[in-house]
Amino acid sequence: MKVSMNKKLTVLVSLELLDSIFEGARRLYPKEVFLLLRGQKAKDVIRITDLVVPPLAVYGYGFANLPFHMLPMDFSIVGTVHSHPSRNTSPTSVDLNHFLGRITMIVGYPFADLQNVAVYDSKGEAVPFQLLEE
Ligand SMILES: [Zn+2]
Repeated sequence: MKVSMNKKLTVLVSLELLDSIFEGARRLYPKEVFLLLRGQKAKDVIRITDLVVPPLAVYGYGFANLPFHMLPMDFSIVGTVHSHPSRNTSPTSVDLNHFLGRITMIVGYPFADLQNVAVYDSKGEAVPFQLLEE
């Protein structure tokens, strides 16, 4: 499947936050880590500011089995991030069918650098992201 690009949206994320995601993904590997992304939305920019650990009740499920109705949703939640135990960072149909917020970030094994990160919108289009210096 050819991935098209969302040209209207950019995601900003700090290296520190990305490292926390990688760390969580490595710790749970080969299980998937799943976190909510909190951030600030402007018209065409989403800046991710925090990671939110979902309630204990939903933690430790694989993405496909998450009870989505139990997740807290507020206006500062801009999307989700989860890990893939493979190097493939493409969204699965399950990922797209369970979309929450505006973006979803997928990190793939070995959770080490930007090659292992991808961001998508709800249509499965790739969203460009930039690192924030902090
Ligand atoms: Zn997935």
